[in-house]
Amino acid sequence: MFYAQLLTLFPEFFDSPLSCSIPSRAIAAGIVSVETIQIRDFATDKHHKVDDSPYGGGPGMLMKPEPVVASIRAAREKHPDTHVVMLTPSGARFTQAKALEFTEKPGITLLSGRYEGFDERICDYVDEELSLGDYVLSGGEPAALCVLDAVIRLLPDVLGSPESAVLDSFTEEGILDWPHYTRPELFEGKGVPEVLLSGNHAEIGKWRRAQAIQRSKNRD
Ligand code: SAM
Repeated sequence: MFYAQLLTLFPEFFDSPLSCSIPSRAIAAGIVSVETIQIRDFATDKHHKVDDSPYGGGPGMLMKPEPVVASIRAAREKHPDTHVVMLTPSGARFTQAKALEFTEKPGITLLSGRYEGFDERICDYVDEELSLGDYVLSGGEPAALCVLDAVIRLLPDVLGSPESAVLDSFTEEGILDWPHYTRPELFEGKGVPEVLLSGNHAEIGKWRRAQAIQRSKNRD
């Protein structure tokens, strides 16, 4: 079974998204196990402090190294083979290829920050730093959830049709998915491309590929 450990100050953040649709079915089927680890539990002072002000001054607070590193150590103790990923805007961009790479591991540990981010020295205790994109979230949890969701749907036996994941955007040659249409054939005056109604699978295949390539070019 693939495992995910989520290091966070807000374990409750994950409750609702993991309790519906594909992730919840994957958990119920025993394909993935998800455990949250409360970073605050590793703070040793009496106020369970996890943040402090930055050296050199400036606004906001930073995640202190001691509780964060202790929580990473606890995650590694539980799963010595784990791959620890820090979610941070300064990390490498998370991609579909990376999601696929993670499915080949026994499991992952996702570290979410808050406040103005992490004390820089924490980076020495993780295996990889990933960013969701060039924007700033208020915490790492939404990023960790996106990574986890993208990985879960690629695990064997999670999707009803394994072909779905292969045909998804960014998978084959890194191109986007083609445009899809379903009933009704005419919606508010907008029709469906003729070729999709033709029953000619070779032509449909050609049209879809051309559309996918065109879309991918348009987005670049
Ligand atoms: N001061 C930081 C900066 O400007 O880069 C932003 C800190 S952000 C408010 C708090 C936390 O949210 C970060 O430590 C990180 O865990 C998470 N976060 C924010 N944006 C992210 C992104 N694009 N990708 C991954 N994690 C992100």
